[in-house]
Amino acid sequence: MVRGLLNKLVSRSLSVAGKWQHHQLRRLNIHEYQGAELMGKHGVNVPRGVAVSSVEEVRKAIKEFFPNEKELVVKSQILAGGRGLGTFKSGLQGGVHIVKTEQYYYYFTAVIFIIIFIIIISGKMLGQILVTKQTGSQGKIVSKVYLCEKLSLVNEMYFAITLDRTTAGPIIIACSKGGTSIEDLAEKFPDMIIKSSLQDAPDALFLSRITDEGAAKVVDGLAPKGADRNKSIEQVKNLYKLFIDCDCTLLEINPIAETADNQLVAADAKLNFDDNAAYRQKEIFALRDTTQEDPREVTAAKADLNYIGLDGEIGCMVNGAGLAMATMDIIKLHGGTPANFLDVGGNASEGQVIEAFKILTADDKVKAILVNIFGGIMKCDVIASGIVNAAKEVALKVPVIVRLEGTNVDQGKRILKESGMALITAEDLDDAAQKAVKAAYK
Ligand code: GDP
Ligand code: MN
Repeated sequence: MVRGLLNKLVSRSLSVAGKWQHHQLRRLNIHEYQGAELMGKHGVNVPRGVAVSSVEEVRKAIKEFFPNEKELVVKSQILAGGRGLGTFKSGLQGGVHIVKTEQYYYYFTAVIFIIIFIIIISGKMLGQILVTKQTGSQGKIVSKVYLCEKLSLVNEMYFAITLDRTTAGPIIIACSKGGTSIEDLAEKFPDMIIKSSLQDAPDALFLSRITDEGAAKVVDGLAPKGADRNKSIEQVKNLYKLFIDCDCTLLEINPIAETADNQLVAADAKLNFDDNAAYRQKEIFALRDTTQEDPREVTAAKADLNYIGLDGEIGCMVNGAGLAMATMDIIKLHGGTPANFLDVGGNASEGQVIEAFKILTADDKVKAILVNIFGGIMKCDVIASGIVNAAKEVALKVPVIVRLEGTNVDQGKRILKESGMALITAEDLDDAAQKAVKAAYK
């Protein structure tokens, strides 16, 4: 649990396998169609495509962009992978479909029906919830589908660049077999995965660029069957340059594929960017799609709170990341599950505490709230008046357990007491966790 959280918090670690990716990370994730456009601008071969959000736009796009295509690939745009093997809550299998664009005529009791499969499939995807290995059971809404020219892919490979903890630099991961589920492949045939980091290839891979030799080694690992070697090397160099220039934390193409006419193309695009680079990547950060994020986290981010939504029942409000982690662990130890990580920080204002309380109480899953404040820089009285004022604004439906300690603790306790609120007070962390678990699961 702590490990998962660390990944979410630090978020520089890269799980190429997407292990933690259904959690909200402190980095920007963009849609495939946006990633494809960015790659195209950086000289990477991508299929022709257009993103649309209604069936009317599908009709228009076919007329305007694909008048001669008999089939198109229709790809659900959600900020999670595993779409190909995903399932819609409606029952429709697969978030990626290859569909005919032609019109079909059917006669039934003297009436002509015109059927256009691509319209039907797009209509079944748009506005629907897609559940994949990476979305969690709640799934994600498909607000756009990406229509792409259908390429005949004769060979699917895997390519990714991510950040390596050991060298604190980029690492390229490539595999001659790609498509879906690289995780399973990596587990069964680890030798098929080739890696190239600053450590493995000190003469070929640098923080700022990759040499021809370095790129050639990666191409040999991909082992394309027909694609021109030099052109492939160029593609790898362009991908590396994009990764560096755009402050990516992940660039994953699964599959990077070979077409029947021996072109190497990026048939998928998963790009993440370092949040700390937002100030110099304004155009990219303008692509953020908050409708795909946990709404609790979007609200928290606006209030400048360090909040991460989880799926347990005990809402936590704590100051300091370490104490927040400890609180969550102790809740677990006593048989409960935390509904969130929330560090109100060392100098949270009363307004922020109110916001935090609103987020916790708005969460239907939350059955009890545990406030654990160790007043150092943060003062207990500020937290106390925040709680009281929040309680005035939002109806408190669940028990609140409070443990205050440190600066202005007596003032804090007095404020709580005089408020007339029904609070459960706790003496120490263990006591607080036990009381919270008891209150939540009674
Ligand atoms: P993911 O499941 O979310 O990773 O979505 P992908 O974009 O990787 O699509 C799933 C699968 O659809 C890919 O692994 C390909 O096998 C297939 N696919 C995607 N685009 C094309 C295409 O242009 N032609 C063909 N034949 N297959 C495609
Ligand atoms: Mn893919």
